Amino acid sequence: MHEKRYFLSTTPVSIKIINLSSGYIIFGIMKRHIYCLLLLLSQVAFAQKEQMPFIQILGIAQDGGYPHMGCRKKCCTIAWENDSLKKWIVCLALVDPVNKKWWLFEATPDIKEQLHYFQTLTHGVYNYLPDGIFITHAHIGHYTGLMEFGREVMNTKEVPVYSLPKMTAFLETNGPWSQLVKLNNVVLQPMQADSAIQLTENISVTAFTVPHRDEYSETAGFMINTGSKKYLFIPDINKWDKWDKRIIDEVKAVDIALLDGTFYEDTELPGRNMSEVPHPFVSETIKLFQKEDAKTKAKIHFIHFNHTNPILWDAKKRSEVKKAGFKIAKQGEKI
Ligand SMILES: [Zn+2]
Ligand SMILES: [Zn+2]
Ligand SMILES: [Zn+2]
Repeated sequence: MHEKRYFLSTTPVSIKIINLSSGYIIFGIMKRHIYCLLLLLSQVAFAQKEQMPFIQILGIAQDGGYPHMGCRKKCCTIAWENDSLKKWIVCLALVDPVNKKWWLFEATPDIKEQLHYFQTLTHGVYNYLPDGIFITHAHIGHYTGLMEFGREVMNTKEVPVYSLPKMTAFLETNGPWSQLVKLNNVVLQPMQADSAIQLTENISVTAFTVPHRDEYSETAGFMINTGSKKYLFIPDINKWDKWDKRIIDEVKAVDIALLDGTFYEDTELPGRNMSEVPHPFVSETIKLFQKEDAKTKAKIHFIHFNHTNPILWDAKKRSEVKKAGFKIAKQGEKI
């Protein structure tokens, strides 16, 4: 009797324990499954992201690089004394991880360092030489690196060089570039303004003209469409209002805009008439976009910095630009 009572009184308790523990077990198994599923999903997302084309920034300075030849002022002294502060001339790599191809934007005087840098950043997965080179214009920071492809150095074979018609003609008719063409070190690929060149099934590049000091060639900007992202690249341009397109609309139409940030403001070259070297000041671009939403501002990455531009060397100025909602292109950055 005593036993029975004990049995009756304990049964419901036992069932509860069994239910509770099986619940824990089921919950445990589910938790493990959910965890595995989430891990798998994040791995798939990571793998997909890794397969997406991207741009890697290989240089951010204006044509003279940073530090600048002959400059003993505060702006460059710190960089002369510290190699880690040195920056190469504006240059981008457009990378297609699926087809294992890549293209260089601008052949700068720093090309030797930049090709090596790209190899290091991408762990040698891509060919040392790019599958093509896009050139904006005939100012020294943007095309003279091509000389390394000639007999004296790399003696390359048929590297495609994409540029607008005047730039193409300039390379074809002026030494030493004409020799590269004659010896097939490079193959000129003339582009037509506003007409896209298809590089792969998904990736295309469109050149357009922008106003600039066009002594030897016209000046191009590029629109790069990777299928997953659109990039605008305008390293050199006269004031925004001299362009027949509205920069605000152009920025809104893309995901990332790498824009001319040569000078910060009009006091930067004392003793020199800055209208001889017109660029939209960073301060002007910030003002122009002041009323736009945060998303639009955040698309802008300033690039092509003159050594005098405090964005390169003044932490306070850098944080002011960032606080205003804009970005500053970083050498080595993948965007
Ligand atoms: Zn330039
Ligand atoms: Zn300087
Ligand atoms: Zn220029």
